[in-house]
Amino acid sequence: MNTVKCCEIICVGTELLLGEIVNTNAAFLSQKLSVLGINTYHQTVVGDNPERLADAIRSALGRCDLVITSGGLGPTYDDLTKETVAQVLGKRLLLDEESLARIKAYFAATGRQMSTNNEKQAFIPEGAISIRNDYGTAPGIYYEDTERMVIMLPGPPNELEPMFDEQVAPLLAKHTDGVLVSHNLNIIGMGESAIESRLKEMMLSSDNPSIAPYAKFGEVRLRITARAEGENGIETAEMMCRKTMEKIMSTEVGTFVYGIDEESITCAAIKRLRSAGMMVATAESCTGGLIAKRFTDIAGSSDSFVSGVVSYSNEVKMKVLGVPAEIIDEHTEVSHECARAMAKGVRLLLGADIGLATTGYAGPGGGNEKDPVGTVYVAISTKDGEYSERLSYSSMRDRIFIREAAATRAQLLILKTIIS
Ligand code: ATP
Repeated sequence: MNTVKCCEIICVGTELLLGEIVNTNAAFLSQKLSVLGINTYHQTVVGDNPERLADAIRSALGRCDLVITSGGLGPTYDDLTKETVAQVLGKRLLLDEESLARIKAYFAATGRQMSTNNEKQAFIPEGAISIRNDYGTAPGIYYEDTERMVIMLPGPPNELEPMFDEQVAPLLAKHTDGVLVSHNLNIIGMGESAIESRLKEMMLSSDNPSIAPYAKFGEVRLRITARAEGENGIETAEMMCRKTMEKIMSTEVGTFVYGIDEESITCAAIKRLRSAGMMVATAESCTGGLIAKRFTDIAGSSDSFVSGVVSYSNEVKMKVLGVPAEIIDEHTEVSHECARAMAKGVRLLLGADIGLATTGYAGPGGGNEKDPVGTVYVAISTKDGEYSERLSYSSMRDRIFIREAAATRAQLLILKTIIS
């Protein structure tokens, strides 16, 4: 298909018709499409009813060449969007192995049990491609033939919005007269809502470039997207992004930016270690090997990651890492002193240039008045000495979040220590 002429948005969900939830997805999609230069001619809301949904899809495809649906991609019996779209398009549903692998990995990472129903989410219509969902389980779906395009996205706005910005907008930009350029500012240490309130005016006053924050396990990606037309569209859009990023960097938010367009804190840390020719070793208590896993998840990281010790018990902290018993007696195992001794101990034990350590109360049990659940100490050791930070997460946060966020903050110490 060449240039998109017009779009219809179909939002699926009986709760929308009952007024139980506000249809923010329609507003979000219409705004984003208009920035892309695509006209939305119709917005339709339909309940979880296969006949009425099929009618809505048929009539949308009869009057627009782009149809975007939101919702109804979940694992339950009333989630019918892709089955109905496939039926209207006359396509079979086939298992998409890549989506299945991603869904399994998502459940493993969040420590939840995957039900057989969730496998249903990995089926997509023949000829379609899946749209990765890094924020939930249901992948989106992209179907295109010579005359039409159908895009299906999950209902939760915290999944639909980043998926649209990160993956759908670049796909659609190829079918419009303009070009789209995006960059991410990687932020650690300031939450999504704090960023939003600091940049509120900038975000409200500009929809091109647009600015949108997306949170993921202790890190926020601030996505800046610019659209421009004409022969020098790419250069113009790049310049628009650059100016907006410079403006953001000059605010308080800028002090929390650790990188631009980094895939993850792990990739950024490995890059920094490589450029300095340094190797890191880890001593992990409450993160239980998570940092080591993150490093070893990246192929080729053996040039920057030596090894790690999961020193969960005090005995291992003392016997293997050489943490003095007096430190634990005097300060406890969850303290600046213990974290620093662990970092130094693992650096010396494994002959690394840098030692990284975590110790804390990830909950739900443990903690004390001074250091309640959610308190984690992270430390780094180099030949020049040790440095540690005390992190404090709200008791509302669960064990998975606290461990992931603490691992992220520990890795950030590498970037703070090796200045590029
Ligand atoms: P899930 O895997 O979460 O079931 P789904 O694609 O099946 O995803 P729905 O079950 O239709 O999505 O909706 C899930 C939730 O997403 C709703 O309960 C609601 O909170 C939110 N949601 C759905 N549609 C919209 C919408 N149009 N605007 C705002 N929020 C929505």
